Amino acid sequence: MSAGITEAELRELDARDPLASARSLFEVPEGMIYLDGNSLGAMPRAAPERLQALTREQWGVDLNSCWSGRGWLDLPITVGDKIARLIGAAPGEVVAGDSTSVNLFKLLCAAADLRPGRRTILTEDRNFPSDLYIAQGIERFVAGGLRVKLVPREELVGAIDDDTAVVMLTHVDFRSGYLHDMAEIGRSAAERGALVLWDLSHSAGIYPLDVNGCGVDLAVGCGYKYFNGGPGAPAYLFVARRHQDAMHQPLCGWLGHAQPFQFATEYRPAAGIVRMICGTPSVLGLATLDVGVDLLLGHDMAEMRRKSVALTGAFIGLVQQMCEGAGFELRSPADAARRGSQVSLAHPRAERLIAALAERRVIGDFRSPDILRFGFAPLYVRYLDIWDAVLTLKAAVDSA
Ligand SMILES: *Cc1c(COP(=O)(O)O)cnc(C)c1O
Repeated sequence: MSAGITEAELRELDARDPLASARSLFEVPEGMIYLDGNSLGAMPRAAPERLQALTREQWGVDLNSCWSGRGWLDLPITVGDKIARLIGAAPGEVVAGDSTSVNLFKLLCAAADLRPGRRTILTEDRNFPSDLYIAQGIERFVAGGLRVKLVPREELVGAIDDDTAVVMLTHVDFRSGYLHDMAEIGRSAAERGALVLWDLSHSAGIYPLDVNGCGVDLAVGCGYKYFNGGPGAPAYLFVARRHQDAMHQPLCGWLGHAQPFQFATEYRPAAGIVRMICGTPSVLGLATLDVGVDLLLGHDMAEMRRKSVALTGAFIGLVQQMCEGAGFELRSPADAARRGSQVSLAHPRAERLIAALAERRVIGDFRSPDILRFGFAPLYVRYLDIWDAVLTLKAAVDSA
């Protein structure tokens, strides 16, 4: 047994942290320990300026000519190409826009269309609710008799069969932080002729993803969590190059048309990823998303993962050390290799404890029925924050 983690040790880790200077690029309120970046990422300091410039110098001055003159219309692709670099995709494989839920709808329908004769959307029963609901909506409304099959995680790989059109999974589980083996599931699906669709909402931006290296077919992800794109920032979707020419999606609006400004009567899909676009891009949202993505691209993702593993490991270690007997149960994988940048603790008084922490300016979130969830964004969370957060947790549980 070691003597445990000390405050001095954590100070030392901050002093040697190659990512330490990144925190100054964010607005983190004085005195707040923000462990909720997996829900809404912190604001990059450059974001308000970008919005100011876009509104005052573009919208307010050149109005409608900005669509082409200032590249507004191309933002889904220019921002998408940057996101591609964060997830191991190539240029022309990612488009930014719409919400994660809407992009899931497009891709699930498109996946089924690519696998005619197969009728199952396979997923795990604890997947993020919106992802499940979207699949259920397709089951109800899309002709052809698609069905959603929910299985426990341990049964996933065995449940892929020759009726499986697409396996839809979230890479890092929002409740527990469990991180799937993307390559292994991809191999199992490919062996049986099924496509794989990953939701990267809780892994992109904190984990060195390699969608092409893992043979991923399709993916979606969120812009306002670890991408720090701002409240309601647009999401993104990925389609591997090899599928694009044969791919059709149901929300085929005018900006996915081969020639939108010919205003033709018949839909004809644009070449490549552009056909996945529906309508007019959310320019203000894409502008702040671009700021968040640029900020991530300025830092080494492998380094971010190293720090994230160290932060979650220190948090788990300190909870064991300081809060023994206080009734917490670790609900995240103890094995760092299977853990995202999140630690979930179960406690019978979880909801009250999260509120008590917030009063003391330590922000996590509560997930029903009994989970305290803490996210660790490696660009703005410090090692010493872990010490202070667990001390505060200890004080809260002692007085609650
Ligand atoms: C955050 C999140 C979403 C969000 O979907 P919206 O359409 O942006 O509301 C979807 N799926 C997962 C797995 C998420 O974590």
